[in-house]
This record gives sequence, C-alpha cells and structure tokens, in this order.
Amino acid sequence: MSGARHVTNLLDLDLEGMTAWCESLGEKRFRATQLFRWIHQRGCADFSAMSDLAKPFRAKLAATAEIRGLSVLTEQTSADGTVKWLFDVGAGNAVEAVFIPEADRGTLCVSSQAGCAVGCRFCSTGHQGFSRNLSTGEILAQLWHAERELTARGVRSSGDRAVTNVVMMGMGEPLQNYSALVPALRVMLDDHGYGLSRRRVTVSTSGVVPMMERLQEDCPVALAVSLHAPQDGLRDWLVPLNRKYPLQELMAACRAYLSRAPRDFITFEYCMLDGVNDSLQHAQALLDLVQGPHGVPCKINLIPFNPFPASGLKRSAPEQVQAFARHLQGAGLVCTVRRTRGDDIDAACGQLAGEVMDRTRAAERMAHRFTIPINVIQGDDDV
Ligand code: SF4
Repeated sequence: MSGARHVTNLLDLDLEGMTAWCESLGEKRFRATQLFRWIHQRGCADFSAMSDLAKPFRAKLAATAEIRGLSVLTEQTSADGTVKWLFDVGAGNAVEAVFIPEADRGTLCVSSQAGCAVGCRFCSTGHQGFSRNLSTGEILAQLWHAERELTARGVRSSGDRAVTNVVMMGMGEPLQNYSALVPALRVMLDDHGYGLSRRRVTVSTSGVVPMMERLQEDCPVALAVSLHAPQDGLRDWLVPLNRKYPLQELMAACRAYLSRAPRDFITFEYCMLDGVNDSLQHAQALLDLVQGPHGVPCKINLIPFNPFPASGLKRSAPEQVQAFARHLQGAGLVCTVRRTRGDDIDAACGQLAGEVMDRTRAAERMAHRFTIPINVIQGDDDV
C-alpha cells in the first residue's frame, strides 16, 4: 500500500467544489466561502494567516490541502506597462500570461493549454504543437499570481483590483480543454472570487462548434472567434479546424450563442496577412459573410500579424489594413485595428510562444502544408 498522502490544490476548485470538499472534512458550507475569499480576494496562500478560520480547521487544511501556484520562469515588463510572465508547467513545458494596462481597465490574457493542437498557420503556438491541457488550478494560477503581484506593486485598474478583464486568448484553444475551463471561468465570475462580470470575461475560440453550444448553456461569457478568412478554402488553410466546422456551421453557432451571451455581438478576430487575406475582395467577402442572410451581429478586430520566421507569412502594410478597415466601416460594420502592445517583450498577439514538448509533430505537418495553394490566394472556394 502506498503511503503517499493526497493533497488537494484548492486552486482546482470552484465554490461549489470547495463547498463539497469542506463538507467532506466535516466543515460547514460557509467555511468554504470564507476560505474561497481568502484565496481569491486576498491572494492568501498561508492557512495560518486566515485569521477568521477556527484553528482546528486551519490544522486540517495544512494537513490535507495546499494553494499551489505556478513557478515563474521569467517576468518581463514593457515600456508601455505590459507585463508578461512565463510559467513553468513541468516536463519542459511553459505557458505565458500577459497583463495589458489601459486607462480604464487591466486585461489579463490567460493560457489554457501547453501548446495547441489546432495548428493555425499564423500562430507561433500552433507551430509548436500540443503537449497537454492545463488543469483548472493551472489556468486560475495565472490570474491568482497576476492579481497578487500587481496589487502588491500598487497597480490599481479599478477599485482595489489590478485585473478587471480576462481574455482566454493565450496559448491553447480553451474550448478543447472544456472541463478545466468552465470551473475556472466560474471562479472568475463568482462574487466571492474575482467578481468579474460575464461581459469582462472573454473566451476566444477558433470555432469548436459543439463546445460553443455547451458554453452557451453552462457559462455564457463574452465570445471572440478567430475568423481570419471569409471563405472556407482560405480558412481551411489558415485555421485547419475549419475543415471540421466550416463557416456556415460556425456562423450558425455564433447566432445561437448570442441568445445567451452577455453582449449582443460576437467579436471576430482577423489577423492581417500580406497578400493572403488582406485584399478589398476579402473585405467584401467578409461583409457578405457577416451581413448576408446567414450572418451574425458582430464587431471585427483587425490584428496586425507579428511575423516569426517559421510562418513564411508577412504583416500587411498599415495602409492596406486601413483600406480594409475603411471598406468594412463604410458598410456600417464596427471595425477596430488592434494596437500592438508589449512589442519590446514579444507579448503581442500570436507571440505567446512559451515552450512545449511537441507530442504532435506539428513542425513536420506544417512543413508538408507550407505552400499556399494558388486557388486559396485567389479566394476560390471550390477546393
Ligand atoms: S491561434 Fe489559437 S487556436 Fe490557433 S493555433 Fe494559436 S493558440 Fe491554437
């Protein structure tokens, strides 16, 4: 018989889970709320400092539980105040979280997986392949650490909080790690946890349609969809998941999601790639897609591509991005161009590289599919 003692990481539990766990120790339900608040509202990791918990309970906690964050490998702060942490998640894998301060908010971009299996062509994480899903505790540890560190340094975005918004837009496809994601979202939303409104927590997906349907039932936070192309042929090439869930299915899932969403639009992310998806014909095709009979109320966020050598892709010229944006705006669409932040520390979108042990031979797959098919460049959908 193994003598190993099971220790529960309390960062793995939402309030319901923590309540059940406290009850299993013979403690009253309200003890779970007190404990939850110590961990997530006060950032406390030391049971002995939790002064309103009875001493016997604290002793039980010390014997059976821990609050295990992630080890920080590096921390970098950009001239514009952006902070990037690289966290060790074991076995040679690392994930990143990025804090982006703005005048009226502080946004934390959080990772959900070590690597990513979707393999988007313009994404440095996609080129690294997939290693494993993060646990609920590992997802939450990024927020827990950022909030503790930043408030200790006097960073206040609103009230006494540093992080006012969370975007699940770091490394990984959050909807391919659904069972760990949802409890983490619940802790972010819980009034006894981080108390963020559903509008201020955004899940970004490349379009995992069945899980969009489940999220709308289980925890309908704001939704961003990585679109990047207005036609199936081109999107198949840029976002390979499109072969499984093509645009018409994705649009239908977006429309359905809006019935429960905290906002009345979906945000579509569109990474601008020189000569690939940035022509005015693409802009018109995008309008036809989102404003056509099967379209969806939306906002378009154009993202200047952050080039990395293995991609073989180039950033669109600023004037091309502006012309694309004007074409959409001229048709009445809300369209913004994302400002790049943290450029000096490689914290801009698509640069959340971390480091993972690839278990999927992504580099090999990408190499085989490197040459962009000519019919894709021409926007021919019949491929
Ligand atoms: S863009 Fe998102 S879904 Fe696509 S490979 Fe990168 S992390 Fe994965």
